[in-house]
Amino acid sequence: MKILVTGGAGFIGSALVRFIIEHTQDEVVNVDKLTYAGNLASLQSVSNNPRYHFELVDICNRAELDRVFAEHQPDFIMHLAAESHVDRSITGPSDFIQTNIVGTFTLLETAREYWQTLVLAKQNQFRFHHISTDEVFGDLPHPDDVCADQVAYLPKFTEQTSYAPSSPYAASKASSDHLVRAWCRTYGLPTIVSNCSNNYGPYHFPEKLIPLVILNAIEGKDLPIYGKGDQIRDWLYVEDHARALYKVVTEGKVGETYNIGGHNEQRNIDVVKAICGILDALLPKETSYAEQITYVTDRPGHDRRYAIDTTKISNELNWQPQETFATGLRKTIEWYLTHQTWCQHVQDGRYQGERLGLNS
Ligand code: NAD
Repeated sequence: MKILVTGGAGFIGSALVRFIIEHTQDEVVNVDKLTYAGNLASLQSVSNNPRYHFELVDICNRAELDRVFAEHQPDFIMHLAAESHVDRSITGPSDFIQTNIVGTFTLLETAREYWQTLVLAKQNQFRFHHISTDEVFGDLPHPDDVCADQVAYLPKFTEQTSYAPSSPYAASKASSDHLVRAWCRTYGLPTIVSNCSNNYGPYHFPEKLIPLVILNAIEGKDLPIYGKGDQIRDWLYVEDHARALYKVVTEGKVGETYNIGGHNEQRNIDVVKAICGILDALLPKETSYAEQITYVTDRPGHDRRYAIDTTKISNELNWQPQETFATGLRKTIEWYLTHQTWCQHVQDGRYQGERLGLNS
């Protein structure tokens, strides 16, 4: 198979590209614009492999996409390219509308025209897999808002949950999910959508909670907690996500949606304390890293809880996360401690840990 991956230089995209090159015989065409979030340094281990190709292309550029499709003749599209940081979407939503909505539309139209030219056998085999987020569903009831005996019965997101996005990022991803589904229903383009919870792991850009806290901690800086830190996310190790995505594109049913999650609900404050505990053991200093925790103004519109019901992908595609939060978090911290050059390289001139996403 030849798989065209968009956003393959980003956090999840690079994990997916490394997975495909290292664990399958497929070819990859990585289509990426290399925004601040895209780093070819994350693909060093596969960049010389003859099954890996890179195209520096913006997914909003129809002429360039036409050229890439004509040259590479892909069998599958795995669409991850996006603006992905909620705080940035609050500060400046325009790029999110452009890439996440217009870019997805442009890619869909390119794929549709290309797909119509294929012979029937190739048309039937073709897949357009759109990679999305659980943030499209909005937030769920929180354990602090119900009686103790009700906590076990709190709902989770299923494939039937209605969309109710809260942030400009989530709204732009929700829009793109709707476009993808409509292109399947109206034009018959063989699409699949997956919606995943928060990812963590190596090569994560240090604007997101886990890498930001690790790097701030070892640099002796404050560890900012939004609001009370009681927001709950379901964390999934990025390599488990990459494995799930490959299963979805190769074994998933056309027109279907699959929710992907880590069975691992954690309050933000507990995630930060866990990082501090591991750092206290791996890189001890006089005082605990937890003393650097600082509470800051909450994110506007901050969703309180996300949780994923993975029954469908587990039953139909036999996928389960392999990493526990304890093992995945330790691996992640060890990776950041031993990859300081990557951290400096990706931050230089792009981002120095400043607070983004406040309304005023
Ligand atoms: P990321 O921000 O790390 O990477 C995005 C990549 O897309 C970068 O390489 C960037 O250069 C590229 N890109 C951006 N605009 C582009 C454009 N116009 N044309 C071509 N390339 C462009 O994102 P990520 O965290 O790896 O997320 C990947 C996908 O998975 C996104 O669609 C995101 O919505 C989704 N997702 C992310 C998470 C998460 O926890 N990070 C969870 C669920 C779903």
